[in-house]
Amino acid sequence: MTHTIPGNYNPAPDLLAGKTILVTGAGDGIGRAAALSFASHGATVVLLGRTVAKLESVYDEIELAGGPQAAIFPMDLAVAGGEQCAELATAMTDTFGALDGLLHNASVLGERRPIESSTYAGWQEVMQVNVNAQFLLTRHLLPLLRAAPSASIVLTSSGVGRKGRAFWGAYAVSKFATEGFMQVLADELENTSEVRVNSLNPGATNTAMRRTAYPSETPTDNPAPADIMPAYLYLMGDDSKGVNGQALSVR
Ligand code: NAP
Repeated sequence: MTHTIPGNYNPAPDLLAGKTILVTGAGDGIGRAAALSFASHGATVVLLGRTVAKLESVYDEIELAGGPQAAIFPMDLAVAGGEQCAELATAMTDTFGALDGLLHNASVLGERRPIESSTYAGWQEVMQVNVNAQFLLTRHLLPLLRAAPSASIVLTSSGVGRKGRAFWGAYAVSKFATEGFMQVLADELENTSEVRVNSLNPGATNTAMRRTAYPSETPTDNPAPADIMPAYLYLMGDDSKGVNGQALSVR
């Protein structure tokens, strides 16, 4: 059955109290807003990203707002392998024992040009960060997600991950792969565990990535990351229990 995110969703202030949620790319853009929003609704947030100073700034902001103490896990997804993901899983097991939410948000845009003139190095970097790292993290964190009473995995999609468009190259293909990964995993977990898996297209949002992809736009014509957080909260909290295998959109 096709599901949509309730348009007027109004999360309870303590929606995520007691939950531990890992956010990739938590230092900037949508990931940063998601980390702050999850913490302000009671979650202990694990901030994963490649630029430590940005993660520290999010950590400080959560502390200043009186949220649960966050954790920082620096990782460059362009080079991370199974060993580093296994280390993360061990550290998470020792510290938290379970994981209630995993937001795969980090991505790179890559080259915006025709396939004919795209470079293999550019193609590989996008696939590594947007697809391969997502697999590795999920593969190693699944036992922790299974250990939670009800866990949610959210994979970040895009309009060009649902309908291909010229000059979106590896990025579009990586988002189609993300949708495929979501479907396979959701089907595997259906009826066998309390872990739900869905994809979410945030839509045009005023971030560095969007400004790079559309330099001629007026950035403030698009919603700020904070404006689209109800959809993220809905998927991370128990109000979306039972929603599985869905390709969802913020708007
Ligand atoms: P963004 O502002 O560029 O932020 C991307 C985040 O990913 C940053 O925190 C970045 O870290 C991190 N990241 C990139 N490469 C990484 C790596 N190798 N290792 C670890 N972290 C890495 O992008 P955004 O607009 O917030 O995008 C968030 C998600 O939404 C992405 O999946 C994107 O495809 C999707 N999306 C966005 C839009 C939009 O309009 N903004 C529309 C559709 C889909 P640094 O800050 O350290 O670089």
